[in-house]
Amino acid sequence: MPNRTDAQTCKETYMRHALTHWTAELAEETAEFYRDLHRHPELSFQEHRTARQVAQALKRLDCEVTTGIGGTGVVAVLRNGDGPVVMLRADMDALPVEEATGLSYASTDKATEPAGNEVPVMHACGHDMHTACLVGTLTVLSQARESWAGTVVGVFQPAEEVTGGAAAMIADGLFERFPVPEVVLAQHVSPAPAGTVGHGSGPFMAASDSAQVTLFGRGGHGASPQYALDPVLMAASVVVRLQGIVAREISMHEQAVVTVGRLQAGTKDNVIPDTAELGINIRTYSAQIRQKVRAAVERVIRAEAAAAGAEREPAIEWTHGAPVLVNDPEATARTVKGLEEHLGVERLTPLPPMPASEDAGVFGEAVGAPTVYWMWGGSDPEEFSATMAEGRMPPLNHRPDYAPALEPALSTGVEIMTVAALTWLTAR
Ligand code: ZN
Ligand code: ZN
Repeated sequence: MPNRTDAQTCKETYMRHALTHWTAELAEETAEFYRDLHRHPELSFQEHRTARQVAQALKRLDCEVTTGIGGTGVVAVLRNGDGPVVMLRADMDALPVEEATGLSYASTDKATEPAGNEVPVMHACGHDMHTACLVGTLTVLSQARESWAGTVVGVFQPAEEVTGGAAAMIADGLFERFPVPEVVLAQHVSPAPAGTVGHGSGPFMAASDSAQVTLFGRGGHGASPQYALDPVLMAASVVVRLQGIVAREISMHEQAVVTVGRLQAGTKDNVIPDTAELGINIRTYSAQIRQKVRAAVERVIRAEAAAAGAEREPAIEWTHGAPVLVNDPEATARTVKGLEEHLGVERLTPLPPMPASEDAGVFGEAVGAPTVYWMWGGSDPEEFSATMAEGRMPPLNHRPDYAPALEPALSTGVEIMTVAALTWLTAR
């Protein structure tokens, strides 16, 4: 039996060997694949072309590729003898944002939203980079079969931005039709220097819940409010009172956000409308606080309507939610150690929990497997330093001017995902 240090050295050597398959030629080929995805972004659950491109790229590899899982999801299974089953996940959807990056491969595409509106589309969150990196990683692992044993399941999920894609794939039999993983690994590109990894243990991404609310009043002449029941005042009271939930009902040791992002009522200044509408979003880090805040939001809305003397109960519809993403502490420690040994400790930074949401954790939760999710830097390190030195922030994901620096984001994303996967697979 080799001692622990020998085993580590052995694994490290094989990781380096595996990465020699990421050649300049493969990097350029994958970069072209990325540019094509970037030029042709697709909205959530509409990733038909993207899924076709992914399946096409994977066809050359020695793996089983299945499309149409949970709508447009793609699953690739790389079998390589006895060993652990490791799931690597990427998301594929884009956002209704008009691209303003000025890149030669910028998107000018439009799409139709579920509501029927035509909107510009852009990969403003970088999911095209996630998809390209997973295709690159699967290509490397497929060519480096002499380095590892086990099974790799590559999952390309639809609709992360509306947090329904993971659940849709599971409902479509993901874990009945394909090998059940013992760990789920996923990564997100961020505006940090390329090659760096930000990781966290425990709750890492917030739970997100949205409610669409209609308050019912009674319209009338603006000059005679005594004959009407004003839903605008009702809505204003709700907005103010909602801010008391986090301030007065949540312990200082817990965290939550309640935002009213949409408030609509009326058409004219001297007409009292019949109804007012609110769009509310909440973020929390535990199931208990999530339940508590949701219940408090409903209580405040109903109570304010009652206080105003509303004759009809408000309508409250919870439209979409993502659970908190919890990074399993043990699995995270193991992955981080593997990354530190290969990349060097200086490239890894612990991060506090983030207020953004993500449905990558839904996969592991469904089968009791740990999730490890990290952020990797996708910005050119020199440009990043120059921007920060000027006291400016680099553009953040979801902005029209956000885009990762194709290189080194692509090569470092492939390197990080490959090393993380090999940390879990059996070395040989
Ligand atoms: Zn996003
Ligand atoms: Zn994203």
